[in-house]
Amino acid sequence: MPRGVKKKTVAAKGVKRWASNKAPAPNLDIKVGDNVMVKSESPDEPSYVGQVDQIKKGDNGTKQLKLRWYYRPEDSSSGRQSWHGDRELFRSQVVDWNYIGCVECKCNVHDLEAYENLDTVTAVDFYSRFEYNATTGHFRPDVVPVYCYCEHPYNPDRDMVMCKHCKDWFHCDCVDFYPSMEGDFYCRSHACQEKKNELESPGEEDE
Ligand SMILES: [Zn+2]
Ligand SMILES: [Zn+2]
Repeated sequence: MPRGVKKKTVAAKGVKRWASNKAPAPNLDIKVGDNVMVKSESPDEPSYVGQVDQIKKGDNGTKQLKLRWYYRPEDSSSGRQSWHGDRELFRSQVVDWNYIGCVECKCNVHDLEAYENLDTVTAVDFYSRFEYNATTGHFRPDVVPVYCYCEHPYNPDRDMVMCKHCKDWFHCDCVDFYPSMEGDFYCRSHACQEKKNELESPGEEDE
């Protein structure tokens, strides 16, 4: 498990809503570097995600792909944690050869920032912020910023609110303050700052 380190700022915004669960039609024009989804053996398991490392023609003339697999949090040795996002994948070093016929469709594995900046998240959008060593169970980076009183790493699926004074970010459900609520949010340490602002500029916004 990566250790946490307190960090002051985050470029985090609101939670992503998925636009559509419809995957685009399979596009089998596959190149090295593409990310692809591969149907899992068991029907109730989600598809596997891998990146094409190499392409070759097999003995029978069929194209084969060397895939570098992404792990879902639940498939890692430490399991899914509350701060793992629903679309989170860990990039692994595990590779193997697969027939091109097992590919369902292409997909996107973004870095966290690019994922955050998507206008809409489709069924084929994922993100990866960790490299996962499936042999040792270690993650890279092994230290990540943590936020809020709960001191958890950032989870893009959870709404956060920023303290107007210290600019630290907090989970809306940890501090019981939601974007729909009126007024500015001040964390526990700066709740008195809020009162001070009110006294200094009654009825005015303190910018
Ligand atoms: Zn929290
Ligand atoms: Zn504060």
